[in-house]
Amino acid sequence: MVTPQPECYWGNVNPVGIRSCYDEGKRSAESLCFDYNREFGTRIKVIRIFNTYGPGMDPQDGRVVSNFITQALEGKDITIYGEGKQTRSFCYIDDLVEGIIRMMNGPENLIGPVNLGNPCEITVLKLARIILFYTYSKSKLKYSSLPIDDPTRRRPDITKAKNELGWEPKISLYDGLKNTIQFFQNYYDENGRF
Ligand code: UDP
Repeated sequence: MVTPQPECYWGNVNPVGIRSCYDEGKRSAESLCFDYNREFGTRIKVIRIFNTYGPGMDPQDGRVVSNFITQALEGKDITIYGEGKQTRSFCYIDDLVEGIIRMMNGPENLIGPVNLGNPCEITVLKLARIILFYTYSKSKLKYSSLPIDDPTRRRPDITKAKNELGWEPKISLYDGLKNTIQFFQNYYDENGRF
């Protein structure tokens, strides 16, 4: 494994596992875009989006930030997969959108791929503890098995985005989580459920 991951890392994914339609789907998309660019001169911009969170997430989509916040607000158990030692690096949605706009408005010949994500890496367990703290929740941690092929670490190298786009994330995980918790609290108040 290469971490933090630069754009020149070609990846190492299981081509037939349960995540492969997702992993390989993204790889094929890049490959096709580059073919169209070479073959027909199609204008392309390729970005690699790392874990992103924020207001507007679907409470049911099963990702870690939305799961933990909705569980914490409802007083349900927090579902930690594995021991929670795996890491992710979470980028707030507004930072990501700013990066995408800069890429789209960037020089014509800057076609990517360019990593967009937050290099601040934390464990899933620490994320759970921060969310419990900010929601004043009494939920308990519940450990279950780790999904097959779940990456143990993920952190982008954003040197290229910094140099080529003058972009880096501005919003701390703490501020981003507070906004996201507020969004889910409002959602719950309006709908009475998640
Ligand atoms: N995860 C977890 N509990 C959950 C949902 C996810 O422990 O309720 C873990 C998951 O196993 C992974 C990490 O959190 O290690 C991030 O999962 P997510 O689905 O949000 O994103 P991805 O796996 O694509 O990085």
